[in-house]
Amino acid sequence: MLGLYIHVPFCKKICDYCDFHAFPAPEWLKLEYLDLVSGEVSAFAERHPGAFSAVETLYVGGGTPSALSPEQMARLFGILAGAGLDFGRLKEATFEFNPESCDEERLAVARECGITRASLGLQSLHQRLLDRVGRSHSVETGMRALDLLLSGGNLRVNADLMFDLPGQSLDDLLQDVERLAGSGVGHISLYGLKVDPAKRLGIRVSKGLETVDEDLYAEMYLKSVDLLEKCGFSRYETSNFARAGEESLHNLNYWNRGEYLAFGPSAHGFYGGVRFYAPEKYARWREYVKNGCPREGLTLDALTPEDVAAEYVQLSLRTKYGMRLDGLKKLGFSVPEEALLRWVSEGYAELSGGVFRLVGRGWLFMDTVVLDVYSKME
Ligand code: SF4
Repeated sequence: MLGLYIHVPFCKKICDYCDFHAFPAPEWLKLEYLDLVSGEVSAFAERHPGAFSAVETLYVGGGTPSALSPEQMARLFGILAGAGLDFGRLKEATFEFNPESCDEERLAVARECGITRASLGLQSLHQRLLDRVGRSHSVETGMRALDLLLSGGNLRVNADLMFDLPGQSLDDLLQDVERLAGSGVGHISLYGLKVDPAKRLGIRVSKGLETVDEDLYAEMYLKSVDLLEKCGFSRYETSNFARAGEESLHNLNYWNRGEYLAFGPSAHGFYGGVRFYAPEKYARWREYVKNGCPREGLTLDALTPEDVAAEYVQLSLRTKYGMRLDGLKKLGFSVPEEALLRWVSEGYAELSGGVFRLVGRGWLFMDTVVLDVYSKME
C-alpha cells in the first residue's frame, strides 16, 4: 500500500516539551509554504508519473495542520488533487486538528475535500496539567472541538492523550482515559512524555523548577492499557488503541514497512525501496524547493538486506501482530529459538504459531527486546 504524508510545520504557540519541527508563522509564510509544497509535489509528480494516483492513504500532520485557514486548507487539497491524488479512491484520509483551530469552517472544508478521519491533540483533560506543559488550549476548548468532530458521525476520530506529565497523578490519567473512551472516539493514541533537556520543560526540570515522576511511567501505562481494553479499545501498537475496524491504516502501513510519499519540511518518505528526506529545517527546505528539488538535495538511505531485516524486527514488534518468523526468513534471516524463549520465560513475550510478540510488561521493555532480537539475528 502507498501512503502520502504532508507536514505542516506551523503551531500557534510552541508547547514546552515539543520536539517536532513546528513554529508560529505569519500569514505570508503560510502562503509561501503552500507555494513551496506545490513546487515540491509537482517536481515529484513529474519525475514519478502515476505515483500520486496510486496513493491509498493520506495523513496531513504537523505541527498543526489546522493552523492553516480554511482557504489555505482547500488550496493544499487542491495541490494534491492537481498532482493526481484521487480522494475518491483513498481508503483513509486523516487531518490533524488542535483544539484552538478546530472550527466548523475548517471541518466543512476537510469533509468537502475528502477527509475521512480527524486526529485531535487533546493531551489532557486537566487544565492545570495543560498549563504546566505549555499547551495553548483549555480543556473546555478541547472538549468543544471533540464534540464538533464527533457531530455528524461521518468522520472517524482519534484523540491524543499524554501521560507522565509533571504533576499528573494516576487518577488524573485514568479519569481522562475513561472520559475519552466513553466520548465516542474510535481511536486513542496514548504517549508518555519525553523530557528533552534542550526544550523549555527539560530546562525547568534540570534546574529543579519542575519534576516528572518517572517511577509512575510503568504503572500509568499498564493501568491505562487495562482500562482501555475494558472499554473496548484494543492496543494494536504500543501507543495506539482502537475499537474494531478503527485502526489507522496509514500508520499500519508504516509499521508494515509499506511505502509512502512525504512532503513539507522534516517529512520523511519511503519510495522505490529507498528512505528519503529533504532538508528538514524550513529555511533550507525553502532553498531546496526553490532550486527545483534537486535529487542531490535529498538525504537518501538505500537499505541493505540487514537494514530491511532490522526494520522488520523493530516495526513488527511494535504491534500486537508481532514478528512472523517466516517473514524474517523470507528476508534471509532468522533468530535462534532459545533467544526468543528467554523473553517468553521472563513473561515479556509469547511465541506461538510462528509469531513472536510482546505481552504484559514486555511492552515496557520493547526497545530492549528489539535490540536483543536484532543482535541475535543471523
Ligand atoms: S501542538 Fe504539537 S507540534 Fe505544535 S508545538 Fe505543541 S507538541 Fe509541538
